Amino acid sequence: MAKRDYYEVLGVSRSASKDEIKKAYRRLAMKHHPDRNKDDKVAEQKFKEAKEAYESLSDADKRATYDRFGHEGLRGAAGGAGGFSAEGFGDVFGDVFGDIFGGGRRGRSQVFRGADLGYELRLDLEQAVSGDAVTIEVPTQVTCGECDGKGTAKGSEPVKCTTCGGAGQVRMQQGFFSIQQTCPSCKGAGTIISNPCKNCHGRGRVAKTRKLSVKVPAGVDDGDRIRLSGEGEAGRNGGPSGDLYVEIRVNPHKIFERDSADLSCEVPISVATATLGGSVELPTLDGNVSLKIPAGTQSGKVFRLRNKGVTTVRDHRTGDLFARVAVETPINLTDEQKELLRQFDQLVIRGGEQHSPRAGGWLDTVKRFFERIS
Ligand SMILES: [Zn+2]
Ligand SMILES: [Zn+2]
Repeated sequence: MAKRDYYEVLGVSRSASKDEIKKAYRRLAMKHHPDRNKDDKVAEQKFKEAKEAYESLSDADKRATYDRFGHEGLRGAAGGAGGFSAEGFGDVFGDVFGDIFGGGRRGRSQVFRGADLGYELRLDLEQAVSGDAVTIEVPTQVTCGECDGKGTAKGSEPVKCTTCGGAGQVRMQQGFFSIQQTCPSCKGAGTIISNPCKNCHGRGRVAKTRKLSVKVPAGVDDGDRIRLSGEGEAGRNGGPSGDLYVEIRVNPHKIFERDSADLSCEVPISVATATLGGSVELPTLDGNVSLKIPAGTQSGKVFRLRNKGVTTVRDHRTGDLFARVAVETPINLTDEQKELLRQFDQLVIRGGEQHSPRAGGWLDTVKRFFERIS
């Protein structure tokens, strides 16, 4: 299985601050902690994954390496430190949870990062190959303009939640652990809105369709994703916005099929051109070219046109165009045409196998096949 992106694991943007990364890890570690998920292999895996992501992104040097080189860049570093402990209770854990268990979080309300959004962008092959600027309309949640996201009507302020005393969290005893949980009364906000904003009904956010311009780089392929940082849903309680992932879907093309950097197409040619040789006009993505057909070309023969494929967005490699010849059988012949063809066929038969390079070999194979089974 491919290793997930560390930022994706923690659900934070690439520009997330150290604090945001810590908060995201804390939330995941709480949720998937082995003590709360006894014998749950999935939770254990998620816990380890989050721990590894946090260990890498919380260290400025490691993070810089990861940003530049990805997982490859950190492979050696992780091994040298003895890998990531399976047991979970490392230094990192204490570091992140120390202030919770030490009771140092009083008086701060929770902020929530906005959700990431996905958008499927359909492109024609030409657009994907040469790049384009596309305007998309994305239904999303934006901060309410009437109340600036506070959720309160003009002139009124939110009041402190009495259940949690404004902390947004309440303490719960679970085994020998004292665990802090989101306050059920204020949902972590620390405040209660008694006079809600008319525009957003106290939610602080409203649904809106946003117009965004997406710059599609040249060479993108089906399934590629473009991340628009901070263009997801607005956060709550002053939290950061999520990201928008634009997934590219390339429409099927009438002529070309694409395989990474290479293109392929089929070229119909007449029996006469295949037999006598000639040239055909062949479309490419940057104009027509003339393709030379040698005499005696068989149907199915593939011609390779170098550097007439696609330049990929990842490694800037330019592929080739593979043109597969299909010799066309003529249809709707007149009596005269049919008669001439019969005469021609007789002459070919009289000439023997030298005129039929494939049939000759094929008949031999068939003969040997029957000898073997009889
Ligand atoms: Zn509360
Ligand atoms: Zn509002």
